[in-house]
Amino acid sequence: MKDKTCSFPLTRRGFNAGALASLTTLAASAQSINSGDEIPWYRRTFRWGQTNLNEKDPVRYDVGWWRRHWRRTHVQGLVINAGGIVSFYPSKFPLHYRAKFLADRDFYGEITRAAHDDGIAVLARMDSNRTTEDFYKQHPDWFAVDVDGNPYRAAERYITCVDSPYYEQYLQDVYREIIAWEKPEGFTDNSWSGLDRNSICYCKYSRESFRKATGKDLPRRKDWNDQTYREWVEWGYARRVEIWDLNNRTTKDAGGPDCLWLGMIGGDFVSQGRRLRDLKTLLERTEVVMLDDQSRSVSLGFQENAEMGKRLHGLLGWEKIIPESMATYQRSPVFRKAAASPEESRQWMYSGFAGGIQPWWHHVGAYQWDRRQFEIPISVYDWYAKNERYLVNRTPVAAVGVVYSQRNADFYGRDEAEERVAQPYYGVIQALIKARIPYLPVHADQVDENAKALSTLVLPNLATMTDEQIASVRRYAENGGNLVASGEIALYDKWGERRENSPLADLFGIRFQGQQYGSLGEAESWTGGDHSYLRLHPDVGQDVYGPLSGAEPAVSGDRHPILSGLEKTDIVAFGGLLQEVEPTEGSEVLLTLIPDFPAYPPETSWMRTERTQIPGLVLRDDGGSRRAYFAADLDRRFARDYLPDHGRLIANTIRWTAHNDVLLKVRGPGLIDCHLYRQQDRMILHLVNLSGAGAWRSPLQETIPVGPVQVSIQLPAGGSARAVELLVADQVQSVALNGRWASFELESLGSHEVAVLA
Ligand SMILES: [Zn+2]
Repeated sequence: MKDKTCSFPLTRRGFNAGALASLTTLAASAQSINSGDEIPWYRRTFRWGQTNLNEKDPVRYDVGWWRRHWRRTHVQGLVINAGGIVSFYPSKFPLHYRAKFLADRDFYGEITRAAHDDGIAVLARMDSNRTTEDFYKQHPDWFAVDVDGNPYRAAERYITCVDSPYYEQYLQDVYREIIAWEKPEGFTDNSWSGLDRNSICYCKYSRESFRKATGKDLPRRKDWNDQTYREWVEWGYARRVEIWDLNNRTTKDAGGPDCLWLGMIGGDFVSQGRRLRDLKTLLERTEVVMLDDQSRSVSLGFQENAEMGKRLHGLLGWEKIIPESMATYQRSPVFRKAAASPEESRQWMYSGFAGGIQPWWHHVGAYQWDRRQFEIPISVYDWYAKNERYLVNRTPVAAVGVVYSQRNADFYGRDEAEERVAQPYYGVIQALIKARIPYLPVHADQVDENAKALSTLVLPNLATMTDEQIASVRRYAENGGNLVASGEIALYDKWGERRENSPLADLFGIRFQGQQYGSLGEAESWTGGDHSYLRLHPDVGQDVYGPLSGAEPAVSGDRHPILSGLEKTDIVAFGGLLQEVEPTEGSEVLLTLIPDFPAYPPETSWMRTERTQIPGLVLRDDGGSRRAYFAADLDRRFARDYLPDHGRLIANTIRWTAHNDVLLKVRGPGLIDCHLYRQQDRMILHLVNLSGAGAWRSPLQETIPVGPVQVSIQLPAGGSARAVELLVADQVQSVALNGRWASFELESLGSHEVAVLA
């Protein structure tokens, strides 16, 4: 057994020996944030790396080469494979499967000692989800089984049950063994939460535990209308929280109070719901989030990473860190051994930094024939290390909050959470990004604590709302907050049962009529879908030319500001789902439905009903406090179809509701994702240039610079600014002050820029 004293000193000396000179300053500034004598490793380990070892690596790993790579990427933390699915040290447990090429070598220990000698923190990597067949044969009762008693399997491995002694005892012994063997700073686990909610385990431990908790037998099948299944989902969430706490108790017991068990999570609240991980409860009890979300999805784009960072920090706190595994290999389609396009990989990193995410390079396997992947992080980590003090410990600034809830995705979204919940949410986010309006994701349980800072809250199809959430939105409105909502707002209770009426309808000046038009599905295509429209009011062309005219409509000067940019049309495409509501007295209707009519053959493509009174958008202006309700699902449509009119209508509506007070003005060409922060007396603005990503399909292969870009930032009351430091262009410029607005111009914007206004 090795020396148990940790060679990674948890002292103010901290950073690795070869660190940049500027990092000394950083260490000093980070020090001042903490009141104690020592800053724990998890508050000062910002730059991460991971070589996800494979079974062949014990005979191929060149430790000298890797130590040089750690130095040249300035990493402060490493993830090193230890045990679980494959062990990389000679474990005393005979069933702990050893890497095929390990023999009796202490591979995990050797790399960990090398890292510690270089002053680098280590997280031991586990994957506790499955084992080989011989383990299953020894302890068949530790494994998850279906309703017929057959074990759940993934390829040739067997899935362990989270309720069994495998989690309660065996894994705890493995943590203790690893800590005694070569103590890491903590643990991370790629696959710690067992089966997802589509697979119920009927083993004796699960049966007993569910009965103890609820007095009931396990549900026979997945059925969202069955109260027992709903309770099983909640019980499953609670079990994952128990495991989180149990693992932390063991690692802290054996390794000291800072020996943290951190699991690993994904950032998307819909998929984490499927895996029974309650992000809010888990993030409230952890010091670090190890985020496994390695690249963009095609529909959400790079901007997803900044959104995710802000949304997760909202639950975790902004003083803590969220390193994110960032692939340097080709991700979609997956080629583990081929280098990613450097532009694609780096742009994902820059977008993450804009949301407060920390870098964590990731290679699969220690030996690579495509050596280009090693080069990808180098310039990024150089820049990050130099400017780190501006990229951590800051708070976001926005006037607009977009409210979401994992519960809404679970109990209302059910098996259609993508369409019902995620798309409306991301549609609003995308519209705000296009309009360059800074936003803050707000959990539906945290409206009260965010209310003061935000002038406007957007509730995109927040259908399932608890009584407490409804009360907090009413409080927000009563205190003068402005609101935008859409879809089936508050029409469902916490289990996803429909309420008779929406308890928030009166705020928006509407009454739900119970009927819907259209569908969730595709907009009109040649094979189906709805071919419907929305009419803008007042209906200008009608007044001037008469109902049958095809002539160019007139342009009216007196339309509502929400319709600006649409002067030359009386209609916009729709194709979506619309909730029928009746406006109450004092409400204004700006859009009405033109029902579905044939798109094909063209001879039949004429409006059967040109006008209805069915509202698509209802406004209220109660002497300063403004409300807007979208009966038409333009948010979902914008996420699905990306039609510019839909994005414009959403952004215009939010601007109007917010009295045009959105704290930032950015002018110039391109798709630019803007994120604003405050750090002590500084304002920090991230501008992420997504113009190339918008123009090309994935992977991004070239950055297209845009500019000049004019920026104006609203300073806090009493604030002032003389100069702006551009951290990417590496220059200082003067700023022009006009009242509370500080303005400057970027000549050109490459991949990204970070402007620090002091
Ligand atoms: Zn079980």
